[in-house]
Formats: sequence, structure tokens, C-alpha cells
Amino acid sequence: MGNSNPLPVLNAGMGLMPALGTTPRIGSLLIKPASAVCNLDCEYCFYLDREADPYASLPARQMTGETLERLVETFLFYSYPNSVFAFQGGEPMLAGLKFYRRLIELEKEHGRDGQNVSNALQTNAMLIDEEWAELFHEYHWLLGVSLDGPAEIHDRYRLNKGGQPTWKRVMQSVEILQKGRVDFNILCVLNQANVEKPRELYKFYKSLGVDNVQFIPLSEFFPDGSPMPFTITPQQYGRFLCDTFDLWWPDRRKMRIRFFDNLAEALAGQRPGSCTLHETCDSYVVVEYNGDIYPCDFFVEQDWKLGNVTIDSWPEIARRQRRFNFASKKTLARPECQVCEYQGICHGGCPKFRHARRRSFEDLDYFCLAYKMIYAKAVGPLREEVKKILGHEAPELAMHSISPY
Ligand code: SF4
Ligand code: SF4
Repeated sequence: MGNSNPLPVLNAGMGLMPALGTTPRIGSLLIKPASAVCNLDCEYCFYLDREADPYASLPARQMTGETLERLVETFLFYSYPNSVFAFQGGEPMLAGLKFYRRLIELEKEHGRDGQNVSNALQTNAMLIDEEWAELFHEYHWLLGVSLDGPAEIHDRYRLNKGGQPTWKRVMQSVEILQKGRVDFNILCVLNQANVEKPRELYKFYKSLGVDNVQFIPLSEFFPDGSPMPFTITPQQYGRFLCDTFDLWWPDRRKMRIRFFDNLAEALAGQRPGSCTLHETCDSYVVVEYNGDIYPCDFFVEQDWKLGNVTIDSWPEIARRQRRFNFASKKTLARPECQVCEYQGICHGGCPKFRHARRRSFEDLDYFCLAYKMIYAKAVGPLREEVKKILGHEAPELAMHSISPY
């Protein structure tokens, strides 16, 4: 067994583009060992008080040793030679150090010669100490640390159960990770407290010596379709991306901003790391604490359940009609997308952002305007950059027909 460079924490996609009428093999897992349980109480959290969460009322939500063993053994066998395990929550570190030590033992036991096994974990960083850092360093994990900016910005929404600020503790963890030489990136949730401050954010992350940042735009709505107070507008998101692009451009060879990286990957004709830019929603599956499987972390709902790892085999899960149905949600025709010059990269955006306001997959992606703003600005220069790096012209963007497969 070997450890390859872990892929980005969220939506790490591998594998070939799907053939007509099929869904591809499952190349990566997003595992929630403590379900949506968390030790913080961030005001904007999508998981808190979510009515559709099938597990919300269950008291003990923790993956057992048996489920873990079954998961690791079967998935390593199925996904050979490249296996990606990404852990998320709620807060996945609540599963405890012993759980992750056991995971590594199982990976060693069941991994085969030449198998690449990547581990990644997205955390709020409240529990990181030297012991955890040692484990992450030794086994080359990639961590994603949630940090929304300087103290006054971060602490606007990211509070603990007692309503107390968390920024100081995150900063201690960042120091521990840096001292322990753990590979990590920053996940910044764009909300009303920081979306108008691209320069401040960029300067802050640079001052920490961080060279890899991912921005997640917040789009939560009340049942009547009106935006929650922290939700950002498409215009705000578009302006943020454009301003950040200008700040990042001189640093582009040393600083990674996930959105721009993914765009460059798409322009280079590669499959981008982020599922938002894929043609279909089938690059990974979610594994809940009890082994239940879902096609996307935003749709952990009874109607989308694909099976359970303790009962079903991976080929069965991969071939489920529901997986195909979900994957093709992304391809629902929108007149705007059909004539859009960016359709070959954007593929109609993310069904989560289509579904957000009116619970309809047929809506236009809420952030469409933002995408058009940043594509208009960034595609030209990035195409030139890709050409310089590849040494030849980047492929023209294909206009795909928008129909389910
Ligand atoms: S709905 Fe969005 S986040 Fe989920 S798999 Fe599709 S593109 Fe990815
Ligand atoms: S930019 Fe907007 S119109 Fe164009 S493909 Fe994306 S979501 Fe559709």
C-alpha cells in the first residue's frame, strides 16, 4: 500500500467520464463517522436543524468498528488501484484518534501492493493537538481547516455550543499543524461578514503562510424562498471572485485558489477536482456513520439513499438506478444553459444551488450570474496560462448537448 498525494477534501473526483446510460465506478468516498454531529454551533450551518436529516433524532451517531472494517475492506478491494477516503461531518474528529488509528491499520491490512490510498479530513480544528498532527503527518493526510478570516469576521458566525468565539482555538491548531508539517488547506465559507472583503481575506491567509484556499458560497433560504441573513447574493459572489482573481494573479504559481485551479484544469481538458464543474453528479458517494450510502452530501435524504455498505456490494451500489437518476439531475435542460458560451466548463452549475430556493432541480443555478462574471474575466488569461504550461494550445471548450446522457 502506498500513500499518494491526497486529493482535495471535498468532491475528490477520479475515474472516467460516464458512458451513455451508465454511471461510473465509485472512486472516492466522503465518510461521516459521526454523522452530522458537531461540537460547534455555527449560525449558518447547513446541517443544524435540518428537517430532511434521516438521523437527526438518533442519540448515538458514531461509526462502529465493524462498519469501519467492512467499509475499508470492501472499498479497497473494489476501488483498486486508487482509493480515496475523505472524512467530513458534522465534525469527523469526534470519532476519536483510536478510530483513525484503526482505519490506518485496516488500510495496511487490506491494501494491496501498488495500491494508492489517500486520506483527507475536513475539520473545524477544535480538537487538533500534537498527537493528531503526528498521525496526519506520518500518513500524509490532507486536512481542510475551516477558517472564515480574521477574528472579527470568523467569530461573527462560527461559535461554540456556549455561543463563544472559536477563532483563537483555530489559530492554535493552525500553528500546531504548521509545526507538525501537516499538509492542509483552508476552507472559507463566504457569508455576509466576509464577502465584501476579498482584499482583507487574501492578505490574512497570505500572512499565515497558507498557500491553498477554497471558498464555499453560502446559499441558504427560508421555506418561502427568501434568503437567510448570511446568504450572499450572486452579484456579491461574482465581485468577490473577480477581485480575488486580480489579487491572486501575480501569485498564481505559488498560491492555490480552488475555484481558479479547477477552472484551469477544465481548460486544460482534464477532469476538474470539484464536482460543480463535472458533467454529472457521480464522482463520489457519501457514507453515513451506519453505512448508509447517498450520492451527494447535500442530499443525505431518504429518497436518495443508494444502499448500505454492510448489506450491498459496491458494484450494486454503483449501478443503482437512483444513482443514475441523481447524476443526471445536473443535465436537466435550462434554456439559458443551452445557449451559454460557458456551458462546456460550467455544465449548468450545481444542483444544490438550483434546488436551494424553490426545491426544484429545474431552476437555474442561483449563482449563475457569478459564474458568468468570473468566466468572462478569468477564462482568457487562464487559457493563455494553460497554453504556456502545456506548451501547446488548450483544447477548445466543447458545447455538450444538455440531455440526460
Ligand atoms: S449536487 Fe452539487 S455538490 Fe452534489 S454532486 Fe452535484 S455538483 Fe457536486
Ligand atoms: S454560467 Fe449559468 S447559464 Fe451558463 S452554463 Fe453555467 S449556470 Fe448555465
